[in-house]
Amino acid sequence: MHALQSRPLPPRPAVNLTDIEGTGATETAHRLGLNPAAAASLAYRGREVLRTHYVRRHAAPAEPPCERALDRFVAALRGRATERYRAALQAHLEMCGPCTGATSYRRELNASVSSPQRAG
Ligand SMILES: [Zn+2]
Repeated sequence: MHALQSRPLPPRPAVNLTDIEGTGATETAHRLGLNPAAAASLAYRGREVLRTHYVRRHAAPAEPPCERALDRFVAALRGRATERYRAALQAHLEMCGPCTGATSYRRELNASVSSPQRAG
């Protein structure tokens, strides 16, 4: 098998078909050459990628020293932060007023695109 053929499909086409074009699950799976469960999983992952990008993009501007903290904060909001990330984020929030001040807004932003998850 060619290396490109063995790579996983990007999730965006599944999201486009199901959520934007309104294509049914069976047709989406057929068009992507997947079984329905795999197509649904791909669409689910694609929605999560879009939510994460949305929250990261609109989470309030971060100054360069805060960029990594914001990445960690978004990962925590999306339920994907490791313990090490959480500890580093907590340490940053204890000494950074702007990030601490933006915490509520960032949580609300995350809640607006999905069921809220714990952060920080
Ligand atoms: Zn900060």
